[in-house]
Amino acid sequence: VKGESWVGFDRDFSLAVGAQGWIGMTWPKAYGGRERSALERHVVLEEMLAAGAPVGAHWTGDRQTGPLLLRVGTEAQKQLFLPRLARGEISVCIGLSEPDTGSDLASVRSRAQRTSDGWRLSGRKIWTTNAHRSEYMLGLFRTGEPDGRHAGLSQFLIDLSLPGVEIRGIRDLSGQAHFNEVTFDDVDLPPDALVGHEGAGWQQVMAELAFERSGPDRYMSAFPLLSKLADVARRDCEMTRRLIGEAVGDLIVLREMSLSIAGRLARGETPEKEAALVKELGVGFEQRLPEVVRAACAGAPTDNELAALLKTVTLLAPTFSLRGGTREVMLGIIAKGVGLR
Ligand SMILES: Cc1cc2nc3c(=O)[nH]c(=O)nc-3n(C[C@H](O)[C@H](O)[C@H](O)COP(=O)(O)OP(=O)(O)OC[C@H]3O[C@@H](n4cnc5c(N)ncnc54)[C@H](O)[C@@H]3O)c2cc1C
Repeated sequence: VKGESWVGFDRDFSLAVGAQGWIGMTWPKAYGGRERSALERHVVLEEMLAAGAPVGAHWTGDRQTGPLLLRVGTEAQKQLFLPRLARGEISVCIGLSEPDTGSDLASVRSRAQRTSDGWRLSGRKIWTTNAHRSEYMLGLFRTGEPDGRHAGLSQFLIDLSLPGVEIRGIRDLSGQAHFNEVTFDDVDLPPDALVGHEGAGWQQVMAELAFERSGPDRYMSAFPLLSKLADVARRDCEMTRRLIGEAVGDLIVLREMSLSIAGRLARGETPEKEAALVKELGVGFEQRLPEVVRAACAGAPTDNELAALLKTVTLLAPTFSLRGGTREVMLGIIAKGVGLR
């Protein structure tokens, strides 16, 4: 569906993108990457989003799982996962939220217990986007007692075909089931499923979220709507020109902010508050776009394609400020980052 953007999932498309060398572009060649610059990657991502391409099958791997493995993964994990991610062959979903744990991530209850030959998982994750279509989950589990709220958490790369994993779809208000509830009923994992250091899950997730929150997907997922409006809008109307001009102005500022963070991430930094700022301003911008279209068209658009895009984006828009962390949580991170809390 055009307008669904990075929620859209199409394996064949991702395989074709991988064959072009456009997944994991900045990664070392030894792991299937192309050693291109963060700026080149940014340009490719923007073009994909501008066209409304269905990037969901490779988006998470390219955006956060791959970079995280490059930072903290073992040599064997890098060799096993990165080339397949770069080819678009496998998808990884994100297992953070739980039924009682969304914003307050540090209170994760799902557990991973050491066994004689690995780990045993038990618990439940919720709202896991594309779990039903992914081969792996990168999940956050409790491996120790909370000693100072952020301790005792670890990350695992979980093969979702293992016995004891159950995935059930949850329908959203658009009628589709993009996300899921995933239960782990004594799922046995090999020792090398642990990603990074035992107990360092919190710090690793913060780094991962900085990748997740600051990219062009936080201000361009509704771009096809703006672009179509510009195509069909009445150019002789002062009001319409002003509305489109203001939206493009916002977009340019967001782009500059996102680009500066891409540079810092590439240098190995974790610009947490800056990423939260891009997400907060970006999703506010995206959520305003349906209003811009309605105001510019004085109500319902007469162009069929614009009307269909408006419908899709209107139904998806409420999720923009929830997925990846809510608005209040972003504002909290920003306030703390600038010393107000
Ligand atoms: C489309 C979509 C896709 C998603 N995909 C994934 C995914 O792939 N993987 C995953 O792990 N999760 C995913 N999520 C879950 C998402 O990250 C959570 O919904 C989000 O973090 C909020 O958590 P919650 O739903 O438990 O709400 P709660 O944390 O219960 O929050 C409820 C309300 O209270 C507010 N609130 C909470 N704490 C505070 C505070 N300290 N200060 C002020 N206000 C506060 C929140 O802002 C919110 O308005 C997805 C969500 C959506 C909508």
